[in-house]
Amino acid sequence: MARPITGRLVIATHNAGKLVEMTELLAPYGIATVSAGELGLPEPEEDGMMYAENAAIKALAAARAANLPALADDSGLAVDALDGAPGLFTADWAGKPRDFGRAMARVADELRLREVEPEGARAHFVSALMVAWPDGETLLAEGRVFGALTFPPRGSAGFGYDPIFRPDGHDRTFGEMSAEEKHGIRKIDGRLEGLSHRARAFIRLVAKAGLTEKR
Ligand code: IMP
Repeated sequence: MARPITGRLVIATHNAGKLVEMTELLAPYGIATVSAGELGLPEPEEDGMMYAENAAIKALAAARAANLPALADDSGLAVDALDGAPGLFTADWAGKPRDFGRAMARVADELRLREVEPEGARAHFVSALMVAWPDGETLLAEGRVFGALTFPPRGSAGFGYDPIFRPDGHDRTFGEMSAEEKHGIRKIDGRLEGLSHRARAFIRLVAKAGLTEKR
């Protein structure tokens, strides 16, 4: 049987965009949450070689520091013609302080360097979500969304690379969608489906954790 998530759940991220989305996704489940920032937790170094590894680093560090279960997301954008880059380095391409305008421009520049037309280039987002408990137990779920890049960036909703990503089956970028549209959560034949990589990972996590909606 799935281990219950009792007490407060730490949302183990310092990324404001992710914090909003993870809080929105959790809302129907009636779980009390607190963010890593609110608890003053440090940001661990993400030196894993896979999304799941980095999610584990963040979730376990927060769970142990706060002595509470913690939920972390590690995610990235993989561009086919860039052999999956920026991938694990998606946040790094924004430099410090983070400038996602620069990061999105770099994607277009790198494609042109390879003589690939940026408009319409195939890409996907990946999200690895992990719940960890202070004793080291973990629960992992991953989600992906495939689509095409569009330049110049369109829309100011969401965060990160949302303005250049058009999910398959849609004309608008994530940057032009409301949060609800980007999550895309709906029930089809009694089963939950999502649109964004994070929503898809979350639906799998909910099933594994045996969470049920409270509203
Ligand atoms: P990390 O998981 O902290 O390594 O950061 C992943 C980076 O990927 C974020 O800083 C964002 O720039 C990007 N990213 C992840 N998910 C999304 C998304 O839903 N929309 C736009 N960008 C995203």
